[in-house]
Amino acid sequence: MSTPARILLVEDEINLARGIRENLEAEGYTVEAVGDGLTALDRIRRKEYGLVILDVMLPGMDGFTVCETARQEGRDTPVLFLTARGGGDDRIRGLEAGGDDYLAKPFQLRELLLRVAVILRRRSRYDAMTALEPVVRFGDNEFDFRSFRGRSWDGSDQILTQKEAMILKVLAEREGEVVWRDDILEKVWGDDVLPSSRTIDNFIVRLRKRFEPDPEHPRYFHTIRGIGYRFVAAGEEATS
Ligand code: CA
Repeated sequence: MSTPARILLVEDEINLARGIRENLEAEGYTVEAVGDGLTALDRIRRKEYGLVILDVMLPGMDGFTVCETARQEGRDTPVLFLTARGGGDDRIRGLEAGGDDYLAKPFQLRELLLRVAVILRRRSRYDAMTALEPVVRFGDNEFDFRSFRGRSWDGSDQILTQKEAMILKVLAEREGEVVWRDDILEKVWGDDVLPSSRTIDNFIVRLRKRFEPDPEHPRYFHTIRGIGYRFVAAGEEATS
């Protein structure tokens, strides 16, 4: 990356916010800090950030709603959630809200810095991956990797998360070929904590719901049992 990322820090605990800010600045990042959800949303609408570090429990508007609202408006700034609750439900809620990662309080600042670096690296990898062929068309579906927006066969708007878009990219780049699950894991998750293969299955289910006229009988996103997936841009009946 040429210029160090500008980070929006949204945290209402003043001492914690100060600690995070000092550590990020020591790493060379530019940091803007705000303490409530509505101000955060306003900043996200007005400015470009490399990353938003977003506390969940906030005055005004909670972090999940801030992220969801930004995503619905087509804003794709990466989001790292911070929360006091370490439960699995919150993790899922965070991912559904369009978050990129999740860190439960209390956490080590070193751990936070690692996560920040991973998210920023992943974003620049995504930008590099999608630069050459930024648009994919299959059947009556169309998706633009730059804006994370597309239109599906029935004319509905589709706004994908970064992970959904990356999986689509990895499959579309090797159109017609069987892509192994491990390849998807490596390309999409890279040096992150690897998800279970069921997580990838769930992402494929989501892509089918978005783009397949009949998700139960996919024509574009085929499962190759025990191995991986195959994307067929022209569409064909699955044989297995
Ligand atoms: Ca809080």
